[in-house]
Amino acid sequence: MKLKKGDNVLIISGKDKGKKGKILHALPNEKRIMVEGVFIMKKHVRPRRQGEKGQRLEIPGYIDISNAKLVCSKCGKAVRVGYKIMGDKKYRICKKCSQEI
Ligand SMILES: [Zn+2]
Repeated sequence: MKLKKGDNVLIISGKDKGKKGKILHALPNEKRIMVEGVFIMKKHVRPRRQGEKGQRLEIPGYIDISNAKLVCSKCGKAVRVGYKIMGDKKYRICKKCSQEI
């Protein structure tokens, strides 16, 4: 998967189009990611005991990886990711500025 936890991404489609956020969690097998502040789902938690208040939690949901683009930490643009192989190591590079990201 080209994106991983901790990456900053730009959402390019759906209701959160244009938002930027950090990847909180990634599911490589399903190609889905959870992004900070994106695709928020409101979950209502019922009070467990009498007299306790119910809570409303806002949890980001998983979005398809194709709805997000990596924001390059070097040039600050939403970019396509390329790879560079040096020896037995594989680096991710920005296709705009060619820097390792
Ligand atoms: Zn760049």
